[in-house]
Amino acid sequence: MIGSFVKNFPPLIKIYRIITITYYNLRYSFLRIIYQGNKHYCNLCKSHTRIFFGYGEKSDFFSEREIIGARFRENAMCPCCSSLERHRLLYDYLENHTDIFKESCSILHFAAEGNIKNKLFENTQIDYYSADIVKNRAMYQVDITKIPFPSQKFDYVLCNHVLQDIEDDRKAIMEMKRVLKSNGTIILSFPLCISQHNTYEDMEKKSFKERFETYGDKYHVRIYGLDVKQRIQSCGLHVQEYIWKDHINDRPNHMLMSIHEKDRLFVCSLSNQEMSED
Ligand SMILES: [Zn+2]
Repeated sequence: MIGSFVKNFPPLIKIYRIITITYYNLRYSFLRIIYQGNKHYCNLCKSHTRIFFGYGEKSDFFSEREIIGARFRENAMCPCCSSLERHRLLYDYLENHTDIFKESCSILHFAAEGNIKNKLFENTQIDYYSADIVKNRAMYQVDITKIPFPSQKFDYVLCNHVLQDIEDDRKAIMEMKRVLKSNGTIILSFPLCISQHNTYEDMEKKSFKERFETYGDKYHVRIYGLDVKQRIQSCGLHVQEYIWKDHINDRPNHMLMSIHEKDRLFVCSLSNQEMSED
């Protein structure tokens, strides 16, 4: 809420940034002492801890299907910064495969995860925009199917665990593509059913009750299957899958990070860019 306020007063952004980052760094330092151990590692707040908390929906729907990122998981949440597996995977990608923390860039971040938002916001080289459909939850209230920014404005668009709630997800992808610079990158993730090829959706299911019964979550409007890559490509984007198991050998703490080895990001660009390891 404060973030949405200070965007209208640029001099306040610097003060807001200092206060926010100081508060979170002190909080993480305190919790790091409380939970210190050697059983888990969070790459976001750089904490070694003795526990990660469980997180997710306990429902028969999710337990009967292999859907990454949607069912209850033991050892999911960092007790210090509250990162979940997908946050740690996204941050691993941003830290190791982009220049996001080294060069000035502009970022549009949908449904901004607090811990990642703080990491981006503390970097003064980043022209950062958080966006959310819910008023006062981010700097800008934005309908992702009608993004109120000019074309080719952003170097990065981050959109994680949003598209499964959007009826016209192709329109949302086209809008993200429109506001992307020609050499920019869109990073997507969503609950993904890795045991089915076809994405399932039934637009006749409108009520919360029907959607909960059909998709296991009252806000979801589909279950993405492995064909989602083609779905994104059909919007005119090049897509590379950043699958965790392909990178764990490069991460000494990967066993401690509690990320499902088949979890993945969909890294999209307008041209076919190679994914480089820094
Ligand atoms: Zn953490």
